[in-house]
Amino acid sequence: MIITEQMLNRALGAYLGFACGDALGATVEFMSPKQIQNCYGVHRDIIGGGWLALEAGQITDDTQMSLALGAAIVDHQGWNVQAVADNFVNWLESDPPDVGNTCRRGIVRYRDDGELYGLPRDDDAGNGACMRNLPVVLATLNRPDCFETWSLEQCRITHHNPLSDAATLALGRMVNRLIHGEGMDACRQEAERLIAQYRKFAYSPYPGKASGYIVDTVQTVLHHFFNTDSFEACLVATVNQGGDADTTGALVGMLAGARYGLEGIPERWLAALDSEIASRIRRQTEELLRVGIANL
Ligand code: MN
Ligand code: MN
Repeated sequence: MIITEQMLNRALGAYLGFACGDALGATVEFMSPKQIQNCYGVHRDIIGGGWLALEAGQITDDTQMSLALGAAIVDHQGWNVQAVADNFVNWLESDPPDVGNTCRRGIVRYRDDGELYGLPRDDDAGNGACMRNLPVVLATLNRPDCFETWSLEQCRITHHNPLSDAATLALGRMVNRLIHGEGMDACRQEAERLIAQYRKFAYSPYPGKASGYIVDTVQTVLHHFFNTDSFEACLVATVNQGGDADTTGALVGMLAGARYGLEGIPERWLAALDSEIASRIRRQTEELLRVGIANL
């Protein structure tokens, strides 16, 4: 497989777009649209704050867990689910600003019992596995079979639920097809396939809920992704929905970054992003794409 400049550009757009969405959305995480309006009018700048009292440009668990997953793939030049789980343990023990409950439960189970996967659970339908899967997409751009296996294995370290699985695969396939230069029709096909599988993901008319429940998250992301025409408009509309705004922001930033490319991301957001995180993302993106070539 040859990685073209354009593909690298869209891959960088996806990963940096993801981090921008995390940093932008974290300010208004767990707020209602009304509260956001009262506080900020329209929230459109990376200013930090929020319930985690972040510095401007700081990212949260969404980006940290993605980097931890990506580092395991790069270090092993391929797939080693135990290395992924070990990196999650190290991350949990690094005293991160926030950890989702389901993520914590799964990582602690692995740490204490060595069990890589939990049993299927209805209450594992949060967005915590879906939110961190971008590194798998980048490392498997031309290997659809590996994409599914690696995705589901990393998901089930913490989330073992068919809705979480289906959403993770659907969003990942959209990013894959965008990076390959396919347009929005390809994304619509993937969305329709997901909805055909589970009707509850239907996002039109948009129900307006933006919680961490994977169905609410996916509806919010898809509604705004398909109904805006720039990276900035897409992220601003999404995070002003509040709720799990850093995660909806990150996921929609991933899709919009793959769609509009690196140059679609506002300069002021890239400049605001924690510079150490931004350079780790740039480096890891190139390394993940190389893993994909090396293992063909
Ligand atoms: Mn977060
Ligand atoms: Mn979140």
